[in-house]
Amino acid sequence: MPEGPEVETIRRGLAKVALGRLITDCASDSSRVFHGDVARHALASVLAGARIGALGRHGKFLLVDLVRDGAATGEVLILHMGMSGQLRSSALSGGSAAQEKHAHLVLSFDDGSDIAFIDPRMFGRVEIDVRPADGVLPPSLSRLGPDAIEAPDPLARLRDRATRSSVAIKTLLLDQNLVAGIGNMYADEMLHRARLLPRRPARTLGSGEMARLAAACGEVLNEAVELGGSSLADRTYRDISGELGSFQTKHRVYGREGEPCLECGEAVAREVFAGRSSHFCARCQS
Ligand SMILES: [Zn+2]
Repeated sequence: MPEGPEVETIRRGLAKVALGRLITDCASDSSRVFHGDVARHALASVLAGARIGALGRHGKFLLVDLVRDGAATGEVLILHMGMSGQLRSSALSGGSAAQEKHAHLVLSFDDGSDIAFIDPRMFGRVEIDVRPADGVLPPSLSRLGPDAIEAPDPLARLRDRATRSSVAIKTLLLDQNLVAGIGNMYADEMLHRARLLPRRPARTLGSGEMARLAAACGEVLNEAVELGGSSLADRTYRDISGELGSFQTKHRVYGREGEPCLECGEAVAREVFAGRSSHFCARCQS
């Protein structure tokens, strides 16, 4: 599932091909990826004739601000990749993105290129919302915590909650309303670097341990962005030109069950916890 670094990689790719482009046509199907007040048939009236303005991201959400007659319309196209969502650009991958299998939304641009939102499993989300003001999150995203990659202190809200929470620290890291953009994979990676067990009750963490977690959070996510995100064995995640990410080669625990811990040589353990697989080293993490 694409997490913050994968969505950031998609955002950067999209900016290269679509920033400022005029949307000449918009085609959508009737799949369940469309949400919110704007019905599918009205999407075209919002998108066609608009230009792609600012391209933002908050957590795992991509935000595309729309511009008409040189001014922001206040409308924003929100995309969430869900489990298997991808964006594909014809300008980079060749051919027409509309020809891709499972393309649910296709935007055609004034230079003859197009982009498609592709999602075989359809847990992704496409929605139109409004910007209350510059930089302020649309109402449908207003509950999200600080962005895990860009916020000056992304774990501020999580730290506040942790002091009175007996739930596991990993559960808090995955709560998008505390910190937005961390999923199962990067949570495991940052907990290993911070030498903390995923199931450790949050309120037992001391300030030094919280500081280690904050440092690990920044390191893991920034390194992942630099390497274009992580593509796992299923190769579901690809960037906008169809290329795979490469941070999976740097994973220390995620997907490495039974392989030696890179720090101490102990076999990496996996346990199902809160319905998700957790990978950790029982010797390095406590
Ligand atoms: Zn170890």
